[in-house]
Amino acid sequence: MTTSPVSKRPPLMSLDEALSKVLLDTVAITETQLLPTFEADGRALAESLVSQMQVPPQDNSSMDGYALRVEDVLAVGTRLRVTQRIPAGQQGHALNAGEAARIFTGAPIPPGANAVVMQEDAALVEQGAADASKDLSEVIVNTVPMSGQWIRRSGEDIEKGAVILSQGTRLDPASLGLAASIGVAHLKVTRRPKVALFSTGDELVMPGDIAPQDMRPGAIFNSNRFFLRALLLRAGCEVTDLGIVPDNLAATLEVLRNAADQHDLILTSGGVSVGEEDHVKPAVMQLGHLNLWQIAMKPGKPFAFGRIHASQAAAVPHPYFMGLPGNPVSSFVTFQLLVKPFLMALQGVQKVQPTSYHLKAHFDLPKPDKRREFLRVKRNAQGGLDLFANQSSGVLTSVHWGDGLVDNPGGQAIQAGDWVQFYPFSEWLQ
Ligand code: AMP
Ligand code: MG
Repeated sequence: MTTSPVSKRPPLMSLDEALSKVLLDTVAITETQLLPTFEADGRALAESLVSQMQVPPQDNSSMDGYALRVEDVLAVGTRLRVTQRIPAGQQGHALNAGEAARIFTGAPIPPGANAVVMQEDAALVEQGAADASKDLSEVIVNTVPMSGQWIRRSGEDIEKGAVILSQGTRLDPASLGLAASIGVAHLKVTRRPKVALFSTGDELVMPGDIAPQDMRPGAIFNSNRFFLRALLLRAGCEVTDLGIVPDNLAATLEVLRNAADQHDLILTSGGVSVGEEDHVKPAVMQLGHLNLWQIAMKPGKPFAFGRIHASQAAAVPHPYFMGLPGNPVSSFVTFQLLVKPFLMALQGVQKVQPTSYHLKAHFDLPKPDKRREFLRVKRNAQGGLDLFANQSSGVLTSVHWGDGLVDNPGGQAIQAGDWVQFYPFSEWLQ
């Protein structure tokens, strides 16, 4: 066997490999809660929902008009007797030959009727001013109806016995409405993941604690804390915000130790690089282990994932640890690409990855990075993608300006007009 020349640095792990390692290690939370359907938006459905009924329950009219029998109306201008009036919420009676029922949207089709003619295609025959029940008269049908027209069939939305929402669905407004449409007032959902969040960095100060003009040299405002907390909340988590932890090992160990017992995940920003001031990685290695560290992607290389070994008596004996880079864009991007799928898997959600789209680049990238790169871009009115000029991992404006990321393989130059893979932020932010 020949040995290849020893390279000083082993190749970094690919993002795909990192994500599959994370997801392989993720054990979904099994504790559930029964929530009022009203309160279940954004939560993960813990059991499939089977319909006990047809929706709609009965054949009903999709128009205001006249229910009739098509066999009675073989020519335009046919006259029918209007023998009943059926508003929504009421049940009519059987229709005989030569009869029509005045009917309104949503009202059940009376037995015997097989079509609805909309009122715009019919003319009511006036019975004289003395007749109080104006509708119970005669109607001239100005069309030749087709069997079944303007009838919404029982079960055309949902058949009895159908699975309308499967286990692992992330509930959204439409799915809440769907559950309600089959009479479900409560939903069984996975309990929220408990996440402890802290930022590291002696340079960090909090907005509100100090005015920008009074900041000491070298200080910066802690921006990661704000978007990470908001991202966690949007992903359905309960957040314990532990604030800023100083750049030293003892403080880092202490906060990790304290957070471990009560949380499913400890999420940090900063301090996972290779510098002497980066204490998060050594602290995690003392209190647990790392499954992976550093990914071949830009931005987001210094990402770390592992477990903390909490006390035996802890609510969660082996909480997950995810360490995000301190650079705000790297932090934001690694959250979307790694933390968000993890949080979905932790809640038992089936679809953990957003859908990506092929769109045309309306920009050039002549000098691509050798790593897989996630470029901040924005869709333009022509349906193409514009590139934010400054792709530095410290420039948070790119994330605010952009509405998604282009996933560009390492070393691939882009020319305007090329098809590229686009991930909209909107999918991740749901
Ligand atoms: P680190 O990963 O700790 O080496 O930090 C990398 C860069 O990100 C440094 O320029 C930090 O000042 C900056 N940074 C770290 N944490 C934050 C934060 N919470 N908010 C804004 N910038 C940060
Ligand atoms: Mg730092």
